Amino acid sequence: MPDITSLNALQDYFNSGLTQSYAFRKEQLKKLKTAILNHEQDLYDALHKDLKKSKEEVWVTETGMVITELNVAIKKLGKWMKPKRVSTNLLNLPSGSRIMNEPLGVVLIISPWNYPFNLLFNPLIGAIAAGNCVVLKPSEFAPATAVVMKKIIEDIFPKEYILYVQGDGAKVIPEMMSNFTFGHVFYTGSTVVGKIIYKMAADRLVPVTLELGGKSPCVVESDANIKVAARRIAMTKFSNAGQMCVAPDYLLVHESVKDSIIDSMKEIIGKFFTDKPEESYNYGKIINEKQFERISNYLKEGTIVHGGRTEKEKGYIEPTLLIDVTMNDSVMKDEIFGPVLPIISFSSTEEALAIIQQHPDPLSFYIYTSNTKKEKEWLKAVPAGGCCVNNSSWHLTNHNLPFGGRGFSGIGNYHGRYSFDTFSHKKAVMKTPTWFDPAIKYPPFKGKLKLFKWVIR
Ligand code: NAD
Repeated sequence: MPDITSLNALQDYFNSGLTQSYAFRKEQLKKLKTAILNHEQDLYDALHKDLKKSKEEVWVTETGMVITELNVAIKKLGKWMKPKRVSTNLLNLPSGSRIMNEPLGVVLIISPWNYPFNLLFNPLIGAIAAGNCVVLKPSEFAPATAVVMKKIIEDIFPKEYILYVQGDGAKVIPEMMSNFTFGHVFYTGSTVVGKIIYKMAADRLVPVTLELGGKSPCVVESDANIKVAARRIAMTKFSNAGQMCVAPDYLLVHESVKDSIIDSMKEIIGKFFTDKPEESYNYGKIINEKQFERISNYLKEGTIVHGGRTEKEKGYIEPTLLIDVTMNDSVMKDEIFGPVLPIISFSSTEEALAIIQQHPDPLSFYIYTSNTKKEKEWLKAVPAGGCCVNNSSWHLTNHNLPFGGRGFSGIGNYHGRYSFDTFSHKKAVMKTPTWFDPAIKYPPFKGKLKLFKWVIR
């Protein structure tokens, strides 16, 4: 745990105003990009060690995504920072009005282990672009990646500007948050811990962004292109061995296509990962024993129609399809966060919706259909952080879309411009000229009501 002196040093650095200029922010973003690219190989090695990710997967879901965000921020920073002029209402004319983006101060970014690099560095870009000082707290459960990230940060940034803090989150974070008032806390992780963070932040009225999880449903309608649906669902459900916050958690398939989607999924799993996924270059591992035990328990529920094999020493759980699950099974109560996919059939939209509504609003919702009317109905019917139509999870890779949950799946959002906004305060500024100062605005007010009613309405 950093002592209070090092947190105060960040505050002093922030108060010096150094982090606020366009030139400073841009230079830090560029330095960060160079440092990441210099450590590209180290990141491949570390992410393979922690999660058995392939280089290609690392580029698409971790480093490449962060580099894209950096490129966008470097290019757009000037535009983002510019105060926005807005019109002024009749009452206040001839004043002028604008919105200034003000940094929040010293912000805390807390990240989980499943995309340990992306989920720490992606919000960091927004925090730097917005002119803040930052405390970074990576997950303790992806230790190889944590070592590389520490080196990247400490090689290029002074500790008073960006402080990298490691350790048991349950200990380190409450200590920091109870001793120091952060300008903002940005947390990615489970809903259970998100609530703890929210409560701690409330104590000092610290604003939060919570990027949480939940059960993201995936509906396959009778008119969906089944082969394409199976390929796209399998792609993100089994990427990173299912340890993805936006992975389709369970499938709701129209009864008329249940058999064909199962057959297509089996076929595509074989194509992606061969009949020995444990040896596949493309298939990841479960992060640790605790997660392995938790996910393995789901294999005791329902009926396995594909997969089901495990190897504890390797952190291996085969891509698995389950049927015959009930809403009382833990696999349909918890967020699965592993390579196990329950498939439930429905005969009417109402029946499927009733299942979705048994859970809080999800982080993501996926609908596969060829019918635009059905698509619109589904998008309207399911409140969710984000959605894909005829796709799963990829919405989060478009930096022009805000990424975040709602309710139990999160508060706030980020990516691209939204990251800058998340780490900025929108300061309202009104400037009033002195050459016009009508007496009507000042007491005595008696007899002015008619005029006030004309101007203020
Ligand atoms: P985790 O256990 O690594 O925890 C996340 C962070 O919280 C870590 O830095 C940890 O040190 C800290 N932490 C743990 N206990 C704490 C406590 N009591 N007080 C304060 N801090 C504490 O990761 P996890 O929570 O297992 O991550 C998996 C969850 O994260 C899933 O629910 C997943 O859906 C969600 N997730 C969400 C997103 C998103 O973008 N919305 C992305 C990835 C993961």
